[in-house]
Amino acid sequence: MTLAMRTGGGMAAPPPPVVALRQVGRTFEGPPEVEVLKGIDLAVAAGDYLSIVGPSGSGKSTLLHLLGLLDRPSVGTYHLDGIDTGALDDRDRTALRGSRIGFVFQAFHLLATRTAHENVMLAELYRGSDRVERAERATVALERVGLGHRMGAFPDTLSGGERQRVAIARALVGQPSLLLADEPTGNLDSENSESILALFDELHDAGLTLVVITHDETVSRRAGRTIRIVDGRIAGAL
Ligand code: ADP
Ligand code: MG
Repeated sequence: MTLAMRTGGGMAAPPPPVVALRQVGRTFEGPPEVEVLKGIDLAVAAGDYLSIVGPSGSGKSTLLHLLGLLDRPSVGTYHLDGIDTGALDDRDRTALRGSRIGFVFQAFHLLATRTAHENVMLAELYRGSDRVERAERATVALERVGLGHRMGAFPDTLSGGERQRVAIARALVGQPSLLLADEPTGNLDSENSESILALFDELHDAGLTLVVITHDETVSRRAGRTIRIVDGRIAGAL
């Protein structure tokens, strides 16, 4: 078979990057006004595993909030999967966030009175999907993070690493194209951290696009690529 036949006679357009930021800035109005991010250019291709490092207060979480459509740039453009997010109203941004982005935070944010399975199911509560299907997808997500045997457990009976796995299952249940993690091992000892990093490796190998913010070099070393933010600017690739 020739190349032309395989591509249907024409050259297939390459897929757009998952994330494309162009000259993005974020200023909080204050007073006092604070220019937290300046001139950020960043592309993250499908399947990339990027870590973002930098000193406390440098703007890492602000950048993650922009990437997660929790906040809007003051200037510049953000295309997610080729979609110009600046052109969307709040409702469309919320829908896009729900369908394409999974979040993992340092604090696991699990509901203490719900089982692991219920916590994962709740992620899709507002999607209007059928309860039986949600239950099935939650089971699959928990199996994927190695917690198929603890689905009925309450968070306070789980280790820190297991709790973070539940949070990761919750982030994955909607099949996002991008997983955003802000200090995902910040509350974990080294053994539990390693279990989360091993899971990220597996997810990356399976094709997931990951962006992980960390101040921990053990964490950033696992990513395929690292950028450093200093004073709101990309100070270089490591
Ligand atoms: P990092 O995650 O790298 O520690 P952040 O992105 O949380 O940094 O914060 C960067 C800077 O922006 C800090 O000086 C912080 O005080 C400021 N900042 C963050 N959010 C706001 C806000 N909503 N209003 C005003 N300043 C903010
Ligand atoms: Mg932060």
